[in-house]
Amino acid sequence: MTDDTTPPLIEARHVSRRFGAKPDLAAKIAIKLGLAKPPSTVHALDDVSLSIRKGEVVGLVGESGCGKSTLGRVIAGILDPSEGQIVWKGRDRSALGASERRASALATQMIFQNPMAALNPRMTIEDIVSEAPLTHGLVPKGERRDYVDRYLQFAGFDPALKNRYPHQFSGGQRQRVNIARALAVQPDFLVCDESVAALDVSIQAQVINLFMELRERLDLTYLFVSHDLGVVEHISDRVAIMYLGRIVEEAPVEEVFQRPNHPYTQALLSEIPRIELTKRQFKAIQGELPSPLNPPKGCHFHPRCPFVMDRCRVEVPATIEIAPRHWSACHLNSKAGTGAEALM
Ligand code: SF4
Repeated sequence: MTDDTTPPLIEARHVSRRFGAKPDLAAKIAIKLGLAKPPSTVHALDDVSLSIRKGEVVGLVGESGCGKSTLGRVIAGILDPSEGQIVWKGRDRSALGASERRASALATQMIFQNPMAALNPRMTIEDIVSEAPLTHGLVPKGERRDYVDRYLQFAGFDPALKNRYPHQFSGGQRQRVNIARALAVQPDFLVCDESVAALDVSIQAQVINLFMELRERLDLTYLFVSHDLGVVEHISDRVAIMYLGRIVEEAPVEEVFQRPNHPYTQALLSEIPRIELTKRQFKAIQGELPSPLNPPKGCHFHPRCPFVMDRCRVEVPATIEIAPRHWSACHLNSKAGTGAEALM
């Protein structure tokens, strides 16, 4: 377990990430002459900061399209940020030398939603799990079989089946192979991107319990990306809520579920009927998530917010600490007399 004094294992510092086609020379000239429009840009992440301490499980939650998977990929090193830094064990990852960068990449592994798409259908389970450890010299060739068996066992997969192919297994078993493959390079940190979303509910519970066992056994740290607040509540120490490329609230898990502050968090929680939200009922969220091609000015949530004020339409709310380790980005918190209590 972690406390406030545990240093961050990894941090996103003021990270933005945009996607858009880069115009070639002819297109640039056409744009300059007013003969063509500039290409559209998707603002997937907008000045996001998040730190994760060693041993911690951080849940990252939001609607589809809010940017949570992009943040997971940027933190995992699969995507580079357009702006900002990823800091690994106190050092800017982009400034690491080649061998340190390789070590950082191996220490950070990602587990995706679709277990079949992540596995090469032409390779046996043994080959899949042993490929990266052999490539990176983590195990001598002669010890490969025992090594694979050990990591398959860690993932709850029967090593006797390691000579079969991915299509011969169920979704849950394939996801266990993905977990074994990630563990086999001896990571410190797993980014799980909707890793149980494609599984049957009963299998979901088994895989979530497996993640928790592995955390204790292998001293792992997790970023758990999910749209499912029930799963996140079960697995996380701390939760960050994302809306349209920004983190709008962040707090220890019990604080988020017992005392949600941001109107968007309250709306998300109102959509889970089984969660008792103390004495107050919150209104369900209205409307659709706006397009990240053209996000609303000011607070991105203002077109859907029941508490919207004039300043929300023009001014980005600052993220402030409204209680110990509980951060929220809402103008209601900076108005006298309308702090956290006013929203509860
Ligand atoms: Fe609603 Fe304004 Fe707070 Fe945004 S800043 S959540 S629009 S009250």
